Amino acid sequence: MTFVSASNSIKLPSGDSYPLTGLGLWKVPQHACAELVYTALKIGYRLLDGAADYDNEVQAGEGLIRAVKEGIVKREEVTIVSKLWNTYHAAEHVEAACRRSLEDWKVDYFDVYYVHMPISLKYVDPKVRYPPGWSYDGTPTGPLELEDSPFHKTWEAMEKLVTLGLVRNIAISNMSGGLVMDLMRYARIKPAVLQVELHPYHAQQNLVRLAQAFNIHVTAYSSFGPTSWVGISDNVIAKCESLFDHSVIAGIAQKHNATAAQVVLRWATQQGVTVIPKSSDEKRLKENLENELLSLTEGEIKAIDKLDAGLRFADPGAIDPRLAMYA
Ligand code: NAD
Repeated sequence: MTFVSASNSIKLPSGDSYPLTGLGLWKVPQHACAELVYTALKIGYRLLDGAADYDNEVQAGEGLIRAVKEGIVKREEVTIVSKLWNTYHAAEHVEAACRRSLEDWKVDYFDVYYVHMPISLKYVDPKVRYPPGWSYDGTPTGPLELEDSPFHKTWEAMEKLVTLGLVRNIAISNMSGGLVMDLMRYARIKPAVLQVELHPYHAQQNLVRLAQAFNIHVTAYSSFGPTSWVGISDNVIAKCESLFDHSVIAGIAQKHNATAAQVVLRWATQQGVTVIPKSSDEKRLKENLENELLSLTEGEIKAIDKLDAGLRFADPGAIDPRLAMYA
């Protein structure tokens, strides 16, 4: 990765600002989501990373509305993100899926709208079940039905969202280099952001280089590595220690009088990669946002780079073994 100086937002090719640190909303329970979003905006967060699949967009929107009403923030100052779920890849379902998420958030446009994964599942009518999740019948072990939706058709429908003014920037997530290269060959509107699992145990240097070459901004998810995958990817977690306890991270944290979490986040943001850590704790929310106050040396960044072990926790095969062959 190229070493760049610290700043708190970057410019996407559309000219929109996109913060280097945001708040992730995966696994935030509905009952806590409005308060969390409100608190985060009050603390200074300006990027909210949501998705239809997280089943909390209504509540996230409530938190946003409260903050706007109280004058804490203006709508246009917040980068609101949602993601197209796997069951809505067929071109005829993309706009309706986006409109449903917009209605839930109670906003009239998204700043960034991702295709959540390059895996197309059979359509589930939102009247039957929403969000639909992975299996066709909604049960944990129910049938997993794939759909024949070529990605170029999905992307054309994503481009139309921009034309319609529903979305300002379209983006991709969980894509490997080959898929990104293919998309770049035909995309009329290029993806503005690539969101992937990225942390010191899975640094994805080649993918980051490829994205940078295509002027696609990178957002890291699961910045803390194993922490959010306990109970899901335990077989991979068994191969490593917590990033927070790792002597390299802990040593650097001590030198800077910072926390291990801040060092892990700063390792990414100082290299121009956005992070979206999830926390429900006010003290940690502040701590995470303040990662940008740290200034790591190039040597410290390189020392953290060396922890890369290709350990991937967000393996769809770990979520459902039947997905292993598509991962
Ligand atoms: P994360 O790396 O943000 O880790 C979250 C965990 O770390 C929680 O258990 C939290 O309590 C803990 N934590 C937070 N701050 C801490 C601190 N300062 N010190 C110690 N522990 C702390 O994991 P994540 O939620 O998987 O990823 C972040 C966001 O990325 C998600 O919320 C979601 O928005 C997004 N995401 C996207 C995808 C995708 O497929 N595109 C997949 C996973 C996550």
